[in-house]
Amino acid sequence: MLAWLGGAERDILQVTPRGVPEPAPEGLHGVFGVRSPARPNPIGLTAARIVRIDGASIDVDYLDFVDGTPILDLKPYFVARDLIFSARNEQIGRPGSREALRESLLFQAQRFHGEFCPGLALGVRLFEDFRADVLGMMEPRELRVTVPMDPPCLIDTIMGMARASPGRGTLQFGPAKFVRFDAGSQAAEYMLLPGAPEEAARILEAPGAVLYRRLRPALR
Ligand SMILES: [Zn+2]
Repeated sequence: MLAWLGGAERDILQVTPRGVPEPAPEGLHGVFGVRSPARPNPIGLTAARIVRIDGASIDVDYLDFVDGTPILDLKPYFVARDLIFSARNEQIGRPGSREALRESLLFQAQRFHGEFCPGLALGVRLFEDFRADVLGMMEPRELRVTVPMDPPCLIDTIMGMARASPGRGTLQFGPAKFVRFDAGSQAAEYMLLPGAPEEAARILEAPGAVLYRRLRPALR
């Protein structure tokens, strides 16, 4: 969906993106490297999901525009051409809080897995812990993951967030009840605990100690 971001400034070429703690000028980035609405061209692009079509009106969600933003064009998303699972980029900044990190991981996981379910919620909690408490909120440059053979929803979720796959050698299968993230110099293993809540929403809110125990494996 293409829109007209008419309210933003047009003469700014460098901005400090959200999540960058350093004050200007150290935190400044060129506008073509970030998603800031302040840029020379006011045309904005976002991926949205069609919820309902009623005559000439189309309801969408996942919109990243302020209310009332004029829409310029709609284009279909082609899975066969647009999906780039292996795409990589450099992280600018980092999530400002653990809540922001979880929201971002939930978004990625649901886009990959397609539903909100217990396996997804558990996967988000594990990866959130690794990103927040082991990596200090940073996105790992390289990541290898070991997952159990089931549940499939947990495997799917971790694949989607970590962008790991067996074919590239970044995802492998290990013993039941263990998930391991290995980001090169930092790694952690999680033992999944019995008796954890079974509903997705409760898994998302439960204390980590109820869901898993984090073990820091010796580096190889
Ligand atoms: Zn699922």
